[in-house]
Amino acid sequence: MSSEPAGTEAQILRDVPKQLFIAGAWRDGAQGATLAVHDPATGETIAQIADATPGDALDALTAASDTFAAWRETAPRERGEILRSAYEALIERSDELALLMTLEMGKPVAESRAEVTYAAEFLRWYAEEAVRIDGRFSTHQAGGGRLLTMRQPVGPCVFITPWNFPLAMGTRKIGPAIAAGCTMVVKPAKLTPLSMLALAQVFERAGLPAGVLNVVTASSSGEVMEPLIRDPRTRKLSFTGSTEVGRALMAQASEQILRVSMELGGNAPFVVFEDADLQDALDGAIVAKMRNIGEACTAANRFHVHESIAPQFADGLAKRMGAMTIGRGTQDGVEVGPLIDEDQLAKVQELVDDAVGQGARVLCGGRRVDGPGTFYEPTVLAGVPAGARLLREEIFGPVAPVRAFSSEEQAIAEANDTQFGLVAYLYTADLARALRVSERLETGMVGLNQGMVSNAGAPFGGIKHSGIGREGGPEGIGEYLETKYVALPAP
Ligand code: NAP
Repeated sequence: MSSEPAGTEAQILRDVPKQLFIAGAWRDGAQGATLAVHDPATGETIAQIADATPGDALDALTAASDTFAAWRETAPRERGEILRSAYEALIERSDELALLMTLEMGKPVAESRAEVTYAAEFLRWYAEEAVRIDGRFSTHQAGGGRLLTMRQPVGPCVFITPWNFPLAMGTRKIGPAIAAGCTMVVKPAKLTPLSMLALAQVFERAGLPAGVLNVVTASSSGEVMEPLIRDPRTRKLSFTGSTEVGRALMAQASEQILRVSMELGGNAPFVVFEDADLQDALDGAIVAKMRNIGEACTAANRFHVHESIAPQFADGLAKRMGAMTIGRGTQDGVEVGPLIDEDQLAKVQELVDDAVGQGARVLCGGRRVDGPGTFYEPTVLAGVPAGARLLREEIFGPVAPVRAFSSEEQAIAEANDTQFGLVAYLYTADLARALRVSERLETGMVGLNQGMVSNAGAPFGGIKHSGIGREGGPEGIGEYLETKYVALPAP
């Protein structure tokens, strides 16, 4: 049974904007081309949206650049109030926006609703932060002169976002950028562009001046975005997506010595010590693994469990994951939606087959679900050998490989044995161990006895190949501010 009245889906899809949003106006791409958006649960086309040319994207940058001088001078309170209005509109429209998100991305509506709330929270947090941008005033250390520092918006920004969290990955950038006084061009993923177009409409109605936020959708991301990244008017690039694309964009950004923020791939270890509460650890494991169908940069990619409890943990996880309800995200009670597309499904199957080929045992799942849509069974693999590819590569699907360890040293070494360094999860009842291990984990974030760390008030981000910079919290607005120092003579 659908959780929404019949017709609602059609109405939402009819009303969502499908054009480019440039300089405060909705318009088609210069060549009139469109690109199709699909529902991954059915494979059906749900919308045709404008497909931008490089010239359209440059128009968007021109709008952002022309607007910057006036926008940076607006009162912080004014910027904060626009953000607050947009926050309220998102909350008010959360049912509708959640359904839209599920239609284009596939996750269960309850999870989409949680994403809308999470996404909105960045607007509320930065509405409050806009009026707290300050500098410093101090006396020269040798006496005499004075030191003044001020923080100013970096300038026009280019944002590129992924398909897995279509709204929140945008607001994490847009919220602090607006608060800081920056203008921007946003390019959402072509697989899930509708949520971002709906967000642009929310900001338009919230009174954001024309040109501050511009949104372009395109089928040829590289061709359309490269001219913007190489354009001297752009002052900052913030990207969320794969490490591979991030690396290529950093090379492009080096031409103009752009400031960059990179939120890239992950390979999170989930470490369970023998003193942990097993039921708590299993609860956390379900969140860390199954949120967003496993298609999250923060998804637990590997479970390292003390040998004394590894068999019970693996069996318990298989029991829970094997019992999850798979189906279209719009249906009541569904816990596992489809993967985003056939490519992603094929990659997940390849990684599972590789692990099984090397001796891993399948405790549940291990196959795609027959029928339309790109559904994959929640899968638990035990006894995964060290050489299995899925211990090193981001799985991005509902697959949990479990490995046993015998000592704290081994757990830390295995957890750190990856090029990625976004987040680690740690389960133990021993506070001293929790601190000791947290200090040695090579990640930007640690979840202690919990399976989720995301929070608008906290600095989200990674080290190593997981990226550069932080989103959320006071650190997040720092990514959009330059510090200027003025040397003053003694009064
Ligand atoms: P992706 O393939 O790297 O794409 C991300 C974005 O970059 C999309 O908008 C994509 O556009 C665009 N893009 C691709 N090639 C480009 C190019 N040559 N020039 C300019 N833009 C280009 O990543 P994805 O598959 O969408 O997202 C999954 C990845 O994102 C995973 O690795 C995940 O870990 C990571 N992620 C990281 C975080 C974090 O905070 N660290 C959060 C979420 C996701 P198209 O849609 O046209 O391909």
